[in-house]
Amino acid sequence: MRSYKVLTFGCQMNEHDSEKISGVLAAEGLASARDVEDADLVLVNTCSIREKAEQKFYSELGKLRLLKEKHPSLVIAVSGCIAQQEGDRILKRAPFVDIIFGNQNIKDLPGLLSSLDAKRPEALTEFPEGYEHFILPAERRGSVASFVNIMYGCNNYCSYCVVPYVRGRERSRRPDDIVREVESLVASGVREVTLLGQNVNSYGMGLDNKDGGVCNFPELLRLVDSIDGLLRIRFVTSHPKDLSDSLVEAMATLPKVCENIHLPLQSASDNMLLAMNRRYGFLEYMDKIGRLRAEMSDMALSTDIIVGFPGETEEDYDNTVAALRDIRYDSIFPFKYSRRPNTKALTLSGHIPEDIKAARLDEIIRIQNEITEEKNRARVGRVEEVLVEGQDRSGTPGRLSGRSRGGKVVNFEGDVSLVGTLVDVRITEGKKHSLMGEIVQR
Ligand code: SF4
Repeated sequence: MRSYKVLTFGCQMNEHDSEKISGVLAAEGLASARDVEDADLVLVNTCSIREKAEQKFYSELGKLRLLKEKHPSLVIAVSGCIAQQEGDRILKRAPFVDIIFGNQNIKDLPGLLSSLDAKRPEALTEFPEGYEHFILPAERRGSVASFVNIMYGCNNYCSYCVVPYVRGRERSRRPDDIVREVESLVASGVREVTLLGQNVNSYGMGLDNKDGGVCNFPELLRLVDSIDGLLRIRFVTSHPKDLSDSLVEAMATLPKVCENIHLPLQSASDNMLLAMNRRYGFLEYMDKIGRLRAEMSDMALSTDIIVGFPGETEEDYDNTVAALRDIRYDSIFPFKYSRRPNTKALTLSGHIPEDIKAARLDEIIRIQNEITEEKNRARVGRVEEVLVEGQDRSGTPGRLSGRSRGGKVVNFEGDVSLVGTLVDVRITEGKKHSLMGEIVQR
C-alpha cells in the first residue's frame, strides 16, 4: 500500500483528527494521494452531529463501493464519530469496509493496517484512560495557522448532542504539553493557533499539580500569549454558562488573543434552553454579550442556532429571530433539530414537522445573510490588521488572502513574501462571505 486519501466530514475537531490520521500514515511511509481514484487506502473521517451528516457519509460509502468494485485491492477505512457510535453495525450496511476505528484509536491505525488480511474486520472503538493516545504527529494543512487540542470530550450532555457519547468525558491536557506544542509549531513557521475543545471555558477542571499545575483557561491564554514568535490566538468553542469575567479580561488585554468569539446561543427561548439542558437563560447570555462588547466594542461574534427543537412554538422561534436582529452576529451556523441516537431529546414530546423546521431554517438564513452583508459593507474604508495566510482561492499570482482579527477572510494584492506576516489592509468592498482590500503602509 503506497498512498492514502482522507475524506473529512464535520467540525474543526474532526479536521484536526484527520491531520493526525495523515501524520500517522505518513510516518508509516504512505504518501498523500491527490484524490480517491489515485489512492490505495481511502479513509472517511465521519461526523454524527446531525442526521444529514450521517446520510452524506453513507452516500459517500456508496461511491466508494463502486470504486472498490473496479479496484478490489482498495482498502476502505471509517473513523470518527459514526465509527464510534455505530461500530460493527456499519459492516451490516457496508460489508466492503475493511477497517473501523473510533476517535480515540487513531494511534492503533498502523496495527489495524498490518492485520488487514489476517482477520475479518472488527470495529475498534475503545475509550482509553487519559489523553496521551491523542498526542500524535500531524500533517497540518496550513503552514501559517494551526489547530491545537487543549482538551478532549465533554461533560455537558446537552439533550440533543451525541458528543459526550462518542468523544467521552472531558479531559484537559497539561498546560506545559500545550505550550511545548505551540512552541514547536511556531518554530516551524506557524503564526496563529486555534485552541480546540468542546468547551474551552471549562479547561483545567480536574488538573492538579502532578498534571503540570492547576491552570484555568484565562491562565492558559496568558501562557500561550507569552510565546515569542506567535502572532495570534483564537479558540473554539465557548459554552456561555462558563464564560467568566476573567476570560473577558484576558481577551481584552492579551495582545495576541483575537477579539473574536463563537458563543453558541442555540435558542433565545428559556423554555427551549431548559429542554436543551443548556444551563443558562437568555438574559444571562445577553449579559455576557454585553460584558464582551463593553470591553471590546469591535468584537466579532458568531453562534450556533437550532430551529425546530421538540416543543418549539412560534413564539419561541420568534424570540430567536428577534435575538438575531438584536445581537447582529457576524455569522451563524444554523441547523434544523435532528434526532440523534442515545440523546435525551429523542424522548421529548412535540417533535416539529420537517416542513416547519425547513421554513424556519430558510428564514433565519435569509435574515442572517442580510445582517452579515450589511456588517461586511460597513467595514469599507476601515483598516484591518490581516495575517497573510497564502494566495487567494483563485490561485492568481499576486492575489493574497488572510484573516482579520475578527476572523473575516480578506483578499488583496500583494507579494507572496508577505505570507506569515501581519499587514494593514484598507477595506474597499464588503461581499457576502469575504472582504476585498488594498495594503496600506504600516
Ligand atoms: S457543550 Fe453541549 S453541544 Fe457542546 S459538545 Fe458538549 S454536549 Fe455537545
